[in-house]
Parts: sequence; C-alpha cells; structure tokens
Amino acid sequence: MKRIGVLTSGGDAPGMNACIRAIVRCGVSCKLEVVGIRRGYCGIFEEDFIKLGSRSVSNIIHRGGTILETARCEEMKSREGMRTAIEILQREGIEGLITIGGDGTLRGATKLAKAGGVKIISVPSTIDNDVYGTDYTIGFDTAINTALDAIDKIRDTAGSLPRPFFVEVMGRSRGFIALEVGIAGGAEDIMIPEVETKIEEISLDIKRSFERGKKSFIVIVAEGDEAGGAFSIAQQVWERLKLEYRVCVLGHVQRGGSPTAKDRVLASKLGAAAVDALVRGMSGYMVGELKGELAFTPLRETWDKKKELDSNLLQLVKVLAG
Ligand code: ATP
Repeated sequence: MKRIGVLTSGGDAPGMNACIRAIVRCGVSCKLEVVGIRRGYCGIFEEDFIKLGSRSVSNIIHRGGTILETARCEEMKSREGMRTAIEILQREGIEGLITIGGDGTLRGATKLAKAGGVKIISVPSTIDNDVYGTDYTIGFDTAINTALDAIDKIRDTAGSLPRPFFVEVMGRSRGFIALEVGIAGGAEDIMIPEVETKIEEISLDIKRSFERGKKSFIVIVAEGDEAGGAFSIAQQVWERLKLEYRVCVLGHVQRGGSPTAKDRVLASKLGAAAVDALVRGMSGYMVGELKGELAFTPLRETWDKKKELDSNLLQLVKVLAG
C-alpha cells in the first residue's frame, strides 16, 4: 500500500484533529502518502483532495472542529453513488481509506467496504458516544466536561434561589451524555430517550425535595427525550406545580472547545491503530477501545447492534439525588 485517504464526516467532534494528526504522522512513518479528503464523503465526489505531510498537521492537536471540515452527503446513500466513489478513489490511487465519524459515517463506510476495491477502516468519533464496539467515541469526554462546567455554574445560581432548573444536553436518540453529565454534575434527575419520562412522578419529586429542604433541583434532559425537550418538559411540570422554573439549552457549545487529554490520547491511539490495520491489509472494521484494549469490530455491527447504557449508573442517579 502506497497511498491512503482520510476524511471526517457527520457531526464534528473535539479530537478529530488529533486523530487526523496521528493518521498522517503514522502514515508518513510507514512510508505512505496520506491524502486528506475535504467535507466528508462529499469531498470524494467533488474530488477535493489535499496532500497531507507531517508539517501540515502541526499545531492542531489542541483544536476542536476538524481541519478537513465535514458535511452530510446524500450521494453516498445510492448504489450508483457508491460505485462512483470507489471509481474516483481508485483513479486517485487511494488504496486504503480511513473514515472518522459517527454512526451515519459508519453506515457509509460499511457500504464502501462491501463494494470492494478500496480497503476501509473507520474510527468512531461523535460527541454522542452511541457507537457499538467502543466504550468511548472521540469527542464524548470533551462534550461531557463542557456540559459539566455549565452545570456547575448553574448549580451556584440554582442553589441561591430555589426553583427547578431543566438543562438540555445533546442526544437526539440516546442518553449517554445526559447520563454521565447527570452523575458527574449531581443532578436530581435525568430524562433520556431510553427511559419513559413520567411527568407526574418528576413533579412530585420536585415538590417533595423542596419540602424536604433541598436548595436546588437540576434535571438533565436529553434533547431527544420522548416527552419533549427541556422547554416542553418544564412547561408540563409547571402545569402541575405552578412553580417558577428556568430552562437552559446548552446546544452547540458541547461540540466545540479544545479536546480533553482523554480525547486526545484516544484519538491518537485509534488513528495509529487504523493506519496499522490498513498496512496489515485489514478492511471492513472499526477500531475502538473496549476495557482499555484496542478492539476491531466488523463495520456493520457498529450501527446494527445497540450499545447499552450502563444500568448501574442509571440507578445511581436516583440514589445519589438524596
Ligand atoms: P453524528 O453522530 O455526530 O451526527 P454521523 O456520522 O452519524 O455523526 P450523519 O450525518 O448521520 O453523521 O452521517 C454522515 C454521513 O454519512 C452522511 O452525510 C452520509 O454521507 C453518510 N451516511 C449516513 N447514513 C448512510 C447510509 N445509510 N448509507 C450511506 N451513507 C450514509
């Protein structure tokens, strides 16, 4: 193998740059030419390629976002698009491709690998952590620490003037962010898509907590909770309690910022392992980390199988709310 490509796709996540850096530098040390593909899979169709050398990835390890940019690319979803993508990659002499992204990106990579002709290895990177085959995705740790910083600040004000706070964090279909942030931030309750939200129950909890003398009540709401986002849930609680409340939607701040040490290390390890896998002739796998060890999972399983939430953590939220 002489030439490999790398792209970042879907939602950007802190640590993607650290991963690109690792791929380029490990590629160079294996005497490979590394080509960056801009704006995710769109860059293949637009033939937007850029040669990456060791110096072109200097000073990016600490930066959020992605120097290759990212995009959502509909052409990837058709059979014809898939054939075109493979043809273009082959014409460019790209023998191996590393994709960095979340479950959508992994679906695209699965189809590319199945089409054949170019070896495909994927690295999981999304703030959502909703990828099977890895304990953590690149970007998750930074996102939860960013959200935690905001929640610590909210707790200061929430404790000074007793009223419930509903804080919405990202997570359209899964509650990984809400759960970890809820535990780390000492939330009184969390609302996630995986667990039915009972407005009556949470309303009673809030009422009793203030009666018991609690000074603050913070509820972490995943944006995709089936009872609605934080505004909707807060309003439904208000209709029962007629108690003044505040809502804070953290939104895209969770996507940005300098990656934590944990995300940089994970990104560096997985980027290096992806290059090594291509050099060894592997294709059709995602490289993740399970219990501290590198783990290769067939691409299809990464989105076809469901990663479970830690049920112990779920139970702990209630107990620790006190
Ligand atoms: P995040 O989890 O952060 O949103 P993601 O990788 O899941 O990241 P998506 O927008 O879902 O982000 O997917 C990124 C890209 O992957 C899409 O724009 C598309 O090009 C490709 N993709 C998604 N689903 C499929 C699919 N079923 N078949 C082929 N390609 C796909």
